[in-house]
Amino acid sequence: MKKIEHIGIAVRDMSAASALYEQLLGVSCYKTEDVLSEGVHTAFFKAGDNKVELLAAITKESPIAKFLERKGEGIHHIAFDVDDILSEMSRLKAAGFQLLNEQPKRGADDKMVCFVHPKGTNGVLIELCQQIPTAQIG
Ligand code: ZN
Repeated sequence: MKKIEHIGIAVRDMSAASALYEQLLGVSCYKTEDVLSEGVHTAFFKAGDNKVELLAAITKESPIAKFLERKGEGIHHIAFDVDDILSEMSRLKAAGFQLLNEQPKRGADDKMVCFVHPKGTNGVLIELCQQIPTAQIG
């Protein structure tokens, strides 16, 4: 894995949290995107090379809604940038990590993603993400 791609933070009120993070980081949100398959609304911020992703639930069934119910607001996941998500997935699987999806799926911000169960990673949900080549976005 390469660098941390972003840190995901679960929030209850996206517009309030967005305004707060704009103030905190001193930058504007550069992208908002709904990932309907996950029932989440996302907002991305850049602070230098680092990114923060705010996540709010769209539906009650959303994993974010369940997270907020169980744990309240806070850090939801850490995402690592990978060059080859399929090979990282099989490497982790062979090492005994539990993947939450068997195939990479389309995430926010033009990424293919896979999540690793926090049960096997000291309580931290890990996201692998691979940039989708610009030519394939659409
Ligand atoms: Zn993420």
